[in-house]
Amino acid sequence: MKEYLNNIIFKTISQILGERDQQAFVIGGFVRDKLLGRPSKDIDVVTLGSGIELAQEVARRLLKNPKVATYKNFGTAMFRYRGVDVEFVGARKESYNRNSRKPVVENGTLEDDQRRRDFTINALAIDLHPDRFGQLVDPFGGIEDLKNQIIRTPLDPDTTYSDDPLRMLRAIRFASQLGFRITDESLDSIVRNRERIRIISMERVSEEFNKIMLSPRPSAGIKLLQKVGLLAIVFPQLEALKGIEVVDGCRHKDNFYHTMEVLDNICEHTDDLWLRWAALLHDIGKPVTKRYVKGTGWTFHGHEFVGGKMVPGIFKNLKLPMNEKMKYVQKLVMLHMRPIVLVEEIVTDSAVRRLLFEAGDDIDDLMLLCDADITSKNPDKVSRYLDNYQLVRRKLVEVEEKDRVRNWQPPISGETIIETFALPPCPAIGIIKSAIKDAILDGVIENTPEAAYQFMLQKGEELGLKPVK
Ligand code: ATP
Repeated sequence: MKEYLNNIIFKTISQILGERDQQAFVIGGFVRDKLLGRPSKDIDVVTLGSGIELAQEVARRLLKNPKVATYKNFGTAMFRYRGVDVEFVGARKESYNRNSRKPVVENGTLEDDQRRRDFTINALAIDLHPDRFGQLVDPFGGIEDLKNQIIRTPLDPDTTYSDDPLRMLRAIRFASQLGFRITDESLDSIVRNRERIRIISMERVSEEFNKIMLSPRPSAGIKLLQKVGLLAIVFPQLEALKGIEVVDGCRHKDNFYHTMEVLDNICEHTDDLWLRWAALLHDIGKPVTKRYVKGTGWTFHGHEFVGGKMVPGIFKNLKLPMNEKMKYVQKLVMLHMRPIVLVEEIVTDSAVRRLLFEAGDDIDDLMLLCDADITSKNPDKVSRYLDNYQLVRRKLVEVEEKDRVRNWQPPISGETIIETFALPPCPAIGIIKSAIKDAILDGVIENTPEAAYQFMLQKGEELGLKPVK
C-alpha cells in the first residue's frame, strides 16, 4: 500500500465505507501531487452518495469538536484536520451552457465525475473502500500522461475548454508549474477558444497568472500564453513588448523575450511574487516611449517613468492589490535605470545618497533587479556588468555607513516650519521642506537637526519670511 494512504483520515473513511458498503475515492490534485512526489495540500474525496453525510460521519470520528462546513448548493462539505482541508462531494455529472462556466449538475457515476475534470492527470482516483483500498481508477490514461509529462483533457478539448475557459489558463499554469507539455490538440483548441476567456473574471485570471509567476521558470507559461493568443486578451501591455522594428537597417531587441529572460533570471534568486512582478514590468513603458532617431538609433527615453506610471492601471485591470505591493513594484520600475549611472568612476556621494533615500529598504531588491536585467549573450560583458554592480553595491554600503539615509526622514517637519514663521497653509512650506531635504542629500549641509534648522531660517529669509520665535 502507498505510504501516503497510511493516514488516519483515509483509514477512518475506509472503515466507514466498509460498514456502509459505500464507495468513495480520493481524487484530483492530491493524487497527482503524491504520484509526482510533490507536497500536496488539500484532500478531495468524491463519493457515490451524499458527500455531506460522509463528511459529518468522518468528522465525528476524527475530531473532538466535529465542525463541518457544508455548502448545500454544491453538495460539498469540508473540515480541517491537523492543518489539512478535507473536502467531500457526491460524484456528479455536469452540463454547461455557453454563457457561463456554471454547469447544471446532477448525480453521476465516478466516471462521470472524472470526465468533468480538466486534465487526465487531475482525474486520477484512488479507491478507499476496504475491499479495494489503494486501487487506482484511471479511465483516461492519467498515469501514462503523468509519466510522459503531458497535459491532456479527458474529453474532446473543444468541449473541455469551451465549457469552462478558465481551464485554458489552468493548462498553461500546470505546464509552467510542472514543466509538462500541453498536447498539440489542446493547444490548437485553446487557440480556437481563446476569446471565451472573456467570460472569466479578472480575479480568476490573475490567480492563475500569479501561479505562473511563482512557477520555477515563469517564462515557459507566459510564452505559451503569448503563443496561443491569450496574452493579447488578458494582458495587452505585455503583448505590446513583442516584436522588432527595423529602420535604416537598425533594429532594436525584442523586449518581450528580453523581459522573459530578466524574469527567469530574477526567479533564480527570489520567490517573492512582487519582486518577480517588478522584473516583469521593468520595461513595460518601452513600447510607448520607443523612437527612432536618425544617426542615433532606437531610444526609449523615460521608459522607466512612463512604465512606473502604467503600473497602477495594470494592477487595477488585473484586479491585483492596489496597496503597498503595487507601490513597491512601481518604485522598482521607476528606479531600475538609476544604479547604472552610479557605475561611473567618479560619482558623487550625493547621487548615491539620493538613490538610497528613494529606494529605502528596497535597495537590495533593486540591485537584484539590475543584475537580472543583464541579458547579454557575451559572457565577458555579463561578468563586467555584474562587477560594475558589485562596485555600486560597495558605494551604497560606504555612503549608508557614513550618512544613514536609507530610512531617513528629514529632521524638520512641516509643523516646525508653520510654527516658526506663523504660516497659513501655503506653497512656501513645501518649498522649504524639500529645499532642506535636497541640501542634506546633496551634502550642502550636515544631516543634523541644528544644521537643518539654520538652513530653514535662511531659506525662509530668501522667501521674505520672518521667524516669529
Ligand atoms: P492547485 O492546488 O495547485 O491549485 P489542484 O489541481 O489541486 O491544483 P484545485 O483548484 O484545488 O487545483 O482543484 C482540485 C481538483 O478539482 C483538480 O485536480 C481537478 O480535478 C478539479 N478541478 C479544479 N478546477 C477545475 C476546473 N476548472 N475544471 C475541471 N476540473 C477542475
